[in-house]
Amino acid sequence: MGDYQIAVLEGDGIGPEIVGETIKVLHAVQRKVRDLRMEFRYLPVGLKSYKTDGSTLPNETIEGLAKCDAGILGPVTTHIYDTSDPNMVNPSGTLRKYFDLYANIRPAKNYPGVSSRYEHVDLVIVRENTEGMYADRNLHFGTGEFMPDPDTVLSFRVVTRKGSERIAKVGFELARSRRKSLTLVHKMNVLRKGCGLFYDSCQKIGAAYEDVAVRDYHVDAFALHLVQRPEVFDVVVTTNMFGDILSDQAAGLVGGLGLAPGLNLGDHFMIAQATHGSAPDIAGKNMANPIAEILSAAMMLEWLGIRNHDQSAFIAASMIQAGVAKTLQQNKKTPDLGGTLTTEEFGDALVSVIESS
Ligand code: ATP
Repeated sequence: MGDYQIAVLEGDGIGPEIVGETIKVLHAVQRKVRDLRMEFRYLPVGLKSYKTDGSTLPNETIEGLAKCDAGILGPVTTHIYDTSDPNMVNPSGTLRKYFDLYANIRPAKNYPGVSSRYEHVDLVIVRENTEGMYADRNLHFGTGEFMPDPDTVLSFRVVTRKGSERIAKVGFELARSRRKSLTLVHKMNVLRKGCGLFYDSCQKIGAAYEDVAVRDYHVDAFALHLVQRPEVFDVVVTTNMFGDILSDQAAGLVGGLGLAPGLNLGDHFMIAQATHGSAPDIAGKNMANPIAEILSAAMMLEWLGIRNHDQSAFIAASMIQAGVAKTLQQNKKTPDLGGTLTTEEFGDALVSVIESS
């Protein structure tokens, strides 16, 4: 039986709107799925919590998350955070590091009723999430960018054997449960040591997965293949920054960021979070597409199901996924997909599809 405490962190920009619809949908599946119980615990985060609690990520939030089984996080407008203010940390990056959420799983697939240039896309980017080039999180103390003089910047990129092996393991396990095909993306011809270590570590893990076919590409070549024939790719394992860029590209192949979910996964905790940002340009207008955040919550349920051998969480996850597909098929869409529904109207439409399933 699934009995879960779920932390809810609304975030900035469109965060409260899309997270609101996500919780509405989770309540709807909870009413349908026997044996699934979720309790939602709202915790402060982002610009709103900076105003009320003096921090974009108060201790209370970290402590609250630690008491939960999983979290749902809305996007955060970090590019306007003052990085010199210690109370304005990037909640997203900090939480990934704090809870060691080393795997960022970002699927991209076609949905019926959503026009896109490609068909039959169904791939998952498995992105290393705690190392790499991202200066605000790749060192234990301080930042990974240095300015020896006003006209020079040195940026550090971190790659470890442990980090590479464990992301590879997530990728191979996922590939084994899907089409048994895994693509490693690197830039080993130039970043010989860092990408070399990543590649060797992944190949070492792959030796235990003889049933999974492995190929590899330099990141620039992969970007080309991804736009030319995305349908051939299944699971794609890569380092942090390459994965961040490629997952936005992959979202663009299937209809845009509004359809791009994500899960930050560690060995002991997970946080559902859409791939997209806080979309300040449409915040507060009730026009954001909540699908990416809703599907992120479905991924969370799927992994709670895997980890706890809990059928009720699996059923809830597939009910949401099927509900999204059916709602889109009925041509009920938000403006980013060419529709006319508001964020709330889409949430309501999805809830009625789930209720009648
Ligand atoms: P941030 O600084 O938080 O990353 P951003 O606007 O730079 O915000 P995104 O939020 O990823 O980056 O948005 C890029 C574009 O995609 C924007 O025009 C935005 O309105 C649009 N967009 C992103 N997410 C959604 C969504 N869920 N629904 C509709 N449009 C979206």
